[in-house]
Formats: sequence, C-alpha cells, structure tokens
Amino acid sequence: MTKYADFYRRSLDDRDAFWREQAGLIDWNTPPRQICDYSNPPFARWYLGGTTNLCHNAVDRHLKDRPNQTALICVSTETCTEKTYSFRELHAEVQRTAAMLRELGVRKGDRVLIYMPMIAQAAFTMLACARIGAIHSVVFGGFASASVASRIDDAAPKLIVSADAGSRGGKVVEYKPLLDEAIRLSKHKPDAVLLVDRGLSAMNVIADRDHLWGALRQKHLDAVVPCEWLESNDISYTIYTSGTTGNPKGVQRDTGGYAVALAASMKYIFGGKAGETYFSTSDIGWVVGHSYIVYGPLIAGMATIMYEGLPTRGLDGESNPGIWWQLVEKYKITQLFSAPTAVRVLKKHDPVYLKKYDISSLKTLYLAGEPLDEPTAQWISDALGVPVIDNYWQTETGWPILTIANGVEKAPSKFGSPGIAMYGYDVKLLNESTGEELRGVGEKGVVAIEGPLPPGCMQTVWRDDARFVKTYWETVPGKMVYSTFDWGIRDKDGYFFILGRTDDVINVAGHRLGTREIEETISSHPNIAEVAVVGVADPLKGQVAMAFAVPRDAASVSDDRARLQLEGEVMKLVEQRLGAIARPARVRFVTLLPKTRSGKLLRRAIQAVCEDRNPGDLSSMDDPSALRQITDLVTANR
Ligand code: AMP
Repeated sequence: MTKYADFYRRSLDDRDAFWREQAGLIDWNTPPRQICDYSNPPFARWYLGGTTNLCHNAVDRHLKDRPNQTALICVSTETCTEKTYSFRELHAEVQRTAAMLRELGVRKGDRVLIYMPMIAQAAFTMLACARIGAIHSVVFGGFASASVASRIDDAAPKLIVSADAGSRGGKVVEYKPLLDEAIRLSKHKPDAVLLVDRGLSAMNVIADRDHLWGALRQKHLDAVVPCEWLESNDISYTIYTSGTTGNPKGVQRDTGGYAVALAASMKYIFGGKAGETYFSTSDIGWVVGHSYIVYGPLIAGMATIMYEGLPTRGLDGESNPGIWWQLVEKYKITQLFSAPTAVRVLKKHDPVYLKKYDISSLKTLYLAGEPLDEPTAQWISDALGVPVIDNYWQTETGWPILTIANGVEKAPSKFGSPGIAMYGYDVKLLNESTGEELRGVGEKGVVAIEGPLPPGCMQTVWRDDARFVKTYWETVPGKMVYSTFDWGIRDKDGYFFILGRTDDVINVAGHRLGTREIEETISSHPNIAEVAVVGVADPLKGQVAMAFAVPRDAASVSDDRARLQLEGEVMKLVEQRLGAIARPARVRFVTLLPKTRSGKLLRRAIQAVCEDRNPGDLSSMDDPSALRQITDLVTANR
C-alpha cells in the first residue's frame, strides 16, 4: 500500500503528474492538453482543453455496465413515499428534463435557479443542466423571499425550477408564494418558472410565465438529448454562501476539475465502490448535497439516497429516531454522511433504536460541516461499531481539506480533530498579523492554503473576480494565500484541530450564517436602532445566533410583555426575510452596545460574556456600562 505521506507529497511536488493520473478516473471526450495553468494566480485553471460532461460521468457512463442497477433512491418520511430509479431510468428522466429546459429557452451558459425540496426532480434538473451546459444555482429550500431575491438578482437566471411545497415535521411549507414574492422583490425577472406540483398545496399559476412539470414532461417522454461536451473550465454551477458582508457570494465551480476531484475523493476518502449505496443526509441546497448526494456517488457508480424528512420520523410518518438505521438495513447503505448536530439530536433518544436494525452493511460514518465534539463522536462510534470519520471543508473547496484518506493508507481518527491535510491541499498555519508560517506543535494560526487550490475548488466568485481575490487571498499580510477564515492548531502527527472562525461567520447546525446579514435584517425593523448578533455555543446545534438590540423607543420595552412582543416581531422579520435557520435564539434589549472608541462593535466580548468566558482585553472599549448590561442580562437568565 502507498504511504499516505508519499501520496500527499507527490500531489504537491509532482502536481501535474499526480493530477494527470487522477484525470483517468473520469471519461473525457477530448483529453486535456495541459493539467494546471497557474500563470495568473490566484486563478487556477485545471485540465485545459479537455472536454467532458458531469452528467455523462454521473449517468451515461454507467449505462454500459450497470443500466439496471439502482442509481437514485428518493425517500420521504414527510409524504411517506419511496421511489428508486435505475441508471437507465435516471438517464431517461434527465433527458426528458433536459428537453423541457430546452423548450423553455435554456441554452449553454444560461443560469437555472433551483429552489426545491428534496425530491427526485431536483436531482433531474441539476443533472439536466449539467447535460446541456446550463449553470445551475441551487438555493436552499429553507430560505425566505428576500434571500431568494438577492440570489435571483446575482445569478440572473433564465429559468427558475421550483415546487408547490416542501414539508417539515409533517407541516407543509409552501414554496410557491415565497418564490412569487422573491420574483416580485428581485430586479431581474426570469423568463419562465417550472413547477413540480406535489399536490401538497394549491398553486397560483401565473399565465405566460409558469409551467407545470407534469404536463411538460408528457411532451418529452421519448426525448434524446445528448451531452454537450464542455471545456473543463466551463462553469458547472454556482452556490451561494455567507460571508462577513450582508451580500452572499456566488461560489463558482468548473466542470472537469470538479468531476476529477469528486471521483478521486470517492476513491481515496469515502471508499465508495460501484454498486454500493451512499446516503448523505444533507440537502441539495448545500455544497455537501452537490458533491455527495448528486455528483460524487453517481460518478462512482453508486446508488445515492435523497432523503426528505427529519432524522426522527419513520416511513409511516410516525416518530422513529431509528429511521436512518432502518434505511441502512433496507438499502444496504455502505457509507453514511451526516453532520454532528444530527447525531446530537439522535443522542437524545433511546439508544435501543440503534440496535433495532441490521446495519452490518455500513462501513463508515462520515461527519462534517461543524466541529465534531469528542463525546458525540465517541457515543456514535461506540453505538454503531464502525469508524467515524470527521472531515473539514468549505462550500468554496467542494471536497474535504482535512480528513483521513483510508483509501490510500489506513490511519486512525483522533476524536476532536478532523484529520490531516488531504492530497492537493498545501495547508499551512499562519500568524494572522505577520503572515509567518507556524510550524510548532500546538501553535495557533489561521488555516491557509497555498495556491493553486486543487481541482474541484471554486474558480472565482461569480462575476466578481476582484471579490474573490480580495476576500480570500489578500487577508494575510505580505502573502497571496487562500484563507479559510478558521483558526487551527496541529499536533505532532500532523492532525489539525479547528478552533473556530476568524471572522463574523457563525455555524448553526452545520449551516454557515453571516452575522452581518442577520444584523442588517434586524436593523430594518422600524423600532430597532442598532443590533449586534453573535454566535453562542449550544449543546445541540453547535452554535446559535443571539441578538442584542437597542430599540429606538426605550419605553417600548419597559415591561416583559412589551419585550416579548418586540422580540417576536424581530424573530418573525428574520424568519420572513432570511428563513427560519437564521432566526436568533433570543433577542435581548439594551440601551447601548459595547464598542471600541473608534466605533467598532465588540462582538467577541459579547460572545465571551454569553459563553461565561473572560472577555479579554477591553482597554479599547468606549463605555464599560454597555458590556455590563449584557453581562447582567445573561447572568440573570443563565
Ligand atoms: P460551509 O461552507 O457552510 O460548509 O462552512 C464551512 C465552515 O464550517 C468551515 O470554514 C468551518 O468553520 C466549519 N466546518 C466545516 N467542517 C468542519 C469540521 N469538520 N470541523 C470543524 N469545523 C468545520
């Protein structure tokens, strides 16, 4: 077996040869002329001149060897339905969908915004876009109108694909009215909207703009739509992620590099083999959904599960915290990928559910998206009796930066650490203010990656190269290096430990939220003068958002009833604008916020107080009574 250390070194020292070899994991219509062009840093171009197609690699390529093998398994514990598609059936559905997109005017390079629940048609649409070279932009179904509108304006889609509704915990969540409102709010208007009618809620169909999936599909039952051969650097999709400004960034990804990166990660990291079944409990609205629900497993010739529902509801819609394990038994799942928060939810239930089903097919549990605390990792590892592998990455990278590559050489996991640097990533810890590299064991620095980023990582920020450079590559003094905006340390064996973000981004149940975005929304309430939002440690969700607001009219929060009323209004506003995931756990009212003398909000001090930690050096603070108010409020409610 190759030593991982050698494999890793080769990926950096003999970069082109290493990635040329990995390119052989996918099909190319024309082989690449050049492996990596890094003549214009930090923009890396992979597999120049090569032509390929993500949909071909995910679907068509498997028609020869495994046409009747299951490709897609859709399970909903919300509508109590299960449906499977073989590669042949998936191929037919994707071609029908591609023909529908074409009929609605979508051509190569056009954007298609997907705002959908976890249903098969969402995967068909993503694959159909990839097939014809349209750029998809999936917006998480839980986002509310204003968030969708800002993404519509940025992506300027020709078509939006959506549905009547999703469902959560048995409650119908209507998408159509949210979408109509988003289109009303956006400056850009799509030419057409394609809607799946799940029969969950009545839709107000707008003539000349809205089309129904069912009727249009009927017209294209026999569609034959060949794959467009795209140049490796043609854009496959954009996905929005939060940063420190209120304006979400469109992370832009290529075609060839992404396909190779996913194929390689399935082999070396996830150990996925054709014919096996992969279950990622994420959502297509997140990067994990793109990489490890749709493209990665299918490229590897595996069956993939799309799951709509809570981790605690059964196939009959009744409570069943054993549903995942039941699915493992039923579909012989080999790899399960989830987030620590979901495991913490399960931990609150009777462990008997873990023993009820035959889970002997399961080889490994992968967890990612937020720090995996040791007790949670230990609990699930003991309960399942399979390896639990943490993996650390970002929407920007598309696949893991730090984990264990058991497909290269078996290595132990260390709970509390997501692992070691993955091949292709030249990971460094840097001193935040000097840029100096920190090589010492236990020295804390910013986790940074030396360019070029490996295949599969973001190419740029959609339509904003300057923002890409400024946001990611110019934050460490004196160096052009990619910042992850995470703090980390490394132990003597090269295992990293992630210590939290260096910026004002928080992570709620594995979802990244910019506190600025929430603050901007809260400030738009007519009775809020100023607000600070911080992330506070939470035993279940990792972090929750906590808001401290200064009302314009102090008298309006003079008693408990009035405070609760305003708190309710603020929460509702956030829910309506940004969606329920961004809603703060509490909104507390103060007369003043702690700031430096130059007027900068002291969010870190507020966070420390909320977490009962020492707020550190407060010498730059303007008026100490502001932090005292917060301390008193928090202590009184602890
Ligand atoms: P997102 O792009 O939304 O997936 O968020 C990426 C961020 O989530 C990272 O920059 C980290 O702050 C955090 N994160 C993701 N995976 C892990 C992990 N395994 N351990 C610790 N933090 C993680």
